[in-house]
Order: sequence, then C-alpha cells, then structure tokens
Amino acid sequence: MAALAPLEGAARAQIVVIGAGYTGLSAALHAAAGGREVLVLEAGQIGAGGSGLNGGQVIAGLKHDPHVLESLYGERIGAQLTACSGSAPDLVFDLIRRHGIDCDAVRAGWLQLAVGERHLRLLERRAAEWRSLGADAAVLGEREAAQLTGTRRYSGGWIDRRGGTVQPLAYLRGLAQAAVRAGARLFPQSPASRLSRRGEAWCIESARGSVTASTVIVATDAYTGRAFDELRRTVVAVPSIQVATAPLPPSVRAGILPGGQSVSDTQRILRYFRLDAAGRFVLGTRGSYADIPAPAATPAHERALRELYPQLSGTAIEYRWGGFVAMTRDGLPHLHEPAPGLLAGLGYNGRGVAMASAMGRLLARRALGEGPESLDFPVTPVRPIRLHALSRAGARAAIRYLQARDALERGLRGASAGGLG
Ligand SMILES: Cc1cc2nc3c(=O)[nH]c(=O)nc-3n(C[C@H](O)[C@H](O)[C@H](O)COP(=O)(O)OP(=O)(O)OC[C@H]3O[C@@H](n4cnc5c(N)ncnc54)[C@H](O)[C@@H]3O)c2cc1C
Repeated sequence: MAALAPLEGAARAQIVVIGAGYTGLSAALHAAAGGREVLVLEAGQIGAGGSGLNGGQVIAGLKHDPHVLESLYGERIGAQLTACSGSAPDLVFDLIRRHGIDCDAVRAGWLQLAVGERHLRLLERRAAEWRSLGADAAVLGEREAAQLTGTRRYSGGWIDRRGGTVQPLAYLRGLAQAAVRAGARLFPQSPASRLSRRGEAWCIESARGSVTASTVIVATDAYTGRAFDELRRTVVAVPSIQVATAPLPPSVRAGILPGGQSVSDTQRILRYFRLDAAGRFVLGTRGSYADIPAPAATPAHERALRELYPQLSGTAIEYRWGGFVAMTRDGLPHLHEPAPGLLAGLGYNGRGVAMASAMGRLLARRALGEGPESLDFPVTPVRPIRLHALSRAGARAAIRYLQARDALERGLRGASAGGLG
C-alpha cells in the first residue's frame, strides 16, 4: 500500500468514516465495494486503537448467552444478536480468504476455561446452548482442558470451534489494503475535530482539512473523544495490558497449547493467552489507567505466566503494551443512528475482533441505503452513562476488588492442582 498522508484542504465524499479500526475499515471496505466514494479519517496511525493492540482472539458470541439475550431483549432482538455475533468469525475468516490477508490466521477454536466448579457448570450450559443452535462446540473435562493447554490450572470448560486467532495488526492492515483496493481513501494523522450540519450534508473538520459528505460513520470505540462527547459517555474505556515472551524453544512450545487454540478464562479479571506464529507466549489481563501505554514491569502478568506454566519461569518478556477496551452498561455492542445520515457502532466489551468486523459491515449496509429493520440488528438510541466521569474511579475500585477475589480463589485452587511443568 502506498504511503498515506494526512488530509489537506477541502474534500468531498459520499461516506466519511471516522476511525480506522476493524469497525471503520470493514465499513469502508463494504461501502466502497458497494460503489460509494468513501473517505476514512484516522486520528493516529492505522492500528492506533484497539484493533492494532488486541489479543488476536477471534471469538463468536457476546458476553451474554443466547437465552439471556432473549430474556432481556425479547425473542426477535435476542435472536438477531445471537445470529450476528455467532457468525461474526465466519466473516473474519472469509474476509481474510477473499482478500488474501496475510495475518497468521488459524481457525483451531477458542477455549473458555473455568476457574472452579461453579464456573464449569456455567460453561457446560453455554456449550450445550450453542450446540443446540448448531455451533461446533464441545464441553471439556479437566483432563481434556489440561491436554489442550498444557496447564492443570483449570477445572475444564468448552471449545468453540467457530473461533480462532489472527495477528491483529496484520489483519487490520490487510483490511486497510482491501478497502483502498476497493476505492476508499485513507487519511492517517487526521483527527476529526468537529462535526456540523451544512444543509443536507455533514461537514467534518480535521487538523489541516475538512470534508463534506451525506453520511458519516463514527467508528472510534474506546478511543472516542470529546468531539463526539455523547457517544464517548456511552462506554467506559477500561485498560488491558499484554506481554509477549521471547520465542519459546520448540521443546517448551510443544507443551503449551499444541492445537493452536487461544484461551480466555473465567476469572473475574480474566486472563487471555495464546502462542503466536513465532512461538511467543502472549498473555493479557486488565491493567490500571496508569499502565497505558505500558508499564516497564508487569508483575501480575509474570505471576500469571509462572502459575499457568511453571516452565516459563525466567523466560524473558520481550514486549509489553496496552490499550483500552470499551465496556457498555449492558455488556452489548451498539449500533446508533443519532441523526439522519449519522451512524455509529461501538462497545464490544473485549470481543471486537469478530464483532467490530461484523458491525462495520452492518454500518455499511445501512449507509448503502438498507432500512434499519432489514439489518437484523437493533438500532438503539445514544444513552450516555449517568455520572460517566465517576466511572473510571468506579472501574478502578472494582478491578482492585475483583483482583483480590481472583487471587483468593486461585490460591485455593492452586493448593489442589499443581502445574504440569
Ligand atoms: C489490549 C486489548 C486486547 C484485546 N483483545 C481482544 C481479543 O483478543 N479479542 C477480541 O475480540 N477483542 C479484543 N479486544 C477488543 C478489540 O480490540 C476492540 O473491540 C476492537 O479492536 C474495536 O475496533 P474498533 O474499530 O471499533 O475500534 P479501534 O480499533 O479502537 O479504532 C478506533 C480508531 O478511532 C480513532 N479515532 C478516535 N477518535 C478519532 C477522531 N476524532 N478522528 C479520527 N479517528 C479517531 C482511533 O485512533 C482508533 O484508531 C482487545 C482490546 C484491547 C485494548
């Protein structure tokens, strides 16, 4: 892809996308493929947001199980949310295949593993429910979980074979290239600073230029700033930090996740991990606001490495980085249409690799003229969280409390489990 430059001067487009993460670039790709003139404004470099920083786990479904979605939102909307999120990994792997995206994509499944019997019962029910809906999923006992992971820290769980892994930044760059090939114009280092209505059109001002368009798609997720203040206050941006070890020697690597799955566990402050294509062990968990972009030392991560895989004690950490995850009040992503020709999609609650890609396509379909009722996804009003300014302090206190409870439970389980190493 040719080097990209910031937007200079006045431009026009039919659709302007603000934010070049998975949401924005999937929207740009699908809208450009639908024949529209698309222009993308990105505040930083491509990959500055969660899409360039995440754990690369492609996960089907949302935080809430299908029956919970139905009981909360009714049969029709519940089924829509389940169908869209359940098939989102298909879209990711299909985009990768169709556009020849080189991003170490592996579709070996996603493991969700239980800390304790109570969580295991919940995961067994989750697996049964998805299986009844046709998903390729299975319950794992303690021994099977240990075989698949190489650690005995878990009571069991389930494998969801719809999921997989990608190198997140490579997937994003591949989407950017595909969008450009489809005709979209991308402008990094071009933060949208003001949005105003000019007759029938929208005018978006950026640092050194401006653009008018009939449709604007805001795709800024946890990185939404004060230029879109109401939207910013619909999510709480929670920090998540990851570490990657040096590439592991083949003998050590063979004993860790030999099937190539990725893992998330059910701790209150969850841990997620996988091996990358070079054999680095990559592990993430929540951080604190002071940890962004990345602390020099990551004791919680190093402790997790030792607890899960004692054979990694002493292995050098080569990389540390972090980003923000957008959490919503109801745990669901939202598609908004706050004004005619103004669309937004955000709030993936840590499951955005697949779901943001799917949201981008939904936003493009709406921008291409499909009616909201035919999207098979609810369009919801923008509802800022009351006392949003306090939510950071609340999140900080909640994280500390949950970390303490997790440590207590891990201690109890560790006393009876022991590692494999
Ligand atoms: C550390 C971490 C680990 C994660 N792990 C996983 C995982 O393993 N699996 C999973 O499914 N999800 C994971 N997530 C969540 C996932 O990364 C996000 O949900 C997803 O990337 C959101 O994509 P997006 O395009 O909506 O937003 P982003 O990728 O955050 O993109 C938003 C973009 O908007 C830009 N922007 C903001 N304001 C403006 C403006 N005014 N003008 C122009 N541009 C602007 C930002 O610079 C940014 O590039 C993780 C997130 C983090 C931070």
